[in-house]
Amino acid sequence: MLLIGPPGAGKGTQAHALSDALGVPAISTGDIFRDNVRNETELGRQAKAYMDAGDNVPDSLTNDLVRDRLGQDDCAGGFLLDGYPRTTDQVRALDEFLAGQGASMDAVIELVADPDVVVERLRKRALDQGRADDDESVVRHRLTVYREQTAPLIDVYAQRGLLSQVDGIGEIDQVTERIRSALAERGIRVPA
Ligand code: ADP
Repeated sequence: MLLIGPPGAGKGTQAHALSDALGVPAISTGDIFRDNVRNETELGRQAKAYMDAGDNVPDSLTNDLVRDRLGQDDCAGGFLLDGYPRTTDQVRALDEFLAGQGASMDAVIELVADPDVVVERLRKRALDQGRADDDESVVRHRLTVYREQTAPLIDVYAQRGLLSQVDGIGEIDQVTERIRSALAERGIRVPA
């Protein structure tokens, strides 16, 4: 399953809640990149400049990373992706990976959030967590990158009949409930 939506829509928060309830790992490419930057790995070194600028890390690097991660044992029973795929090339790579495993996607949840609201949320997160890419001009750029490169994927998944749109504005638990109902409509039960 995938969670898709603009920066600040709450993908990471909801991915954690769902991952606990479903008992499958939540995989956030953003978190993996940040860990690598913190630990000063070669991957982190390559990704850092893109992240600081609010640009996508190149597809080849990102796709290799995700293929490795999804190939690990804990993903055998399913997984929840947060922040991937973000480009059409990443969709292609994920499709290829899943086909190779004889697996397929069950659902794509779009967390819908107004740009003004996400800018405000990220302003708060910048104060709390000090993420360099939450600086206001970088946030605006991330939103542009989202609009240009990622938003088009929503149509791709809608055409495949996989997309459920969920309002991402509201209390965290309320949004989780909305996702739960959207999944229930697809016959996917999320234990409480
Ligand atoms: P957000 O969704 O709030 O932008 P993320 O934690 O998902 O935050 O991503 C932070 C940064 O990590 C992105 O701006 C980008 O540089 C990099 N990144 C994360 N996921 C991907 C991806 N799938 N492809 C390319 N770059 C990515």
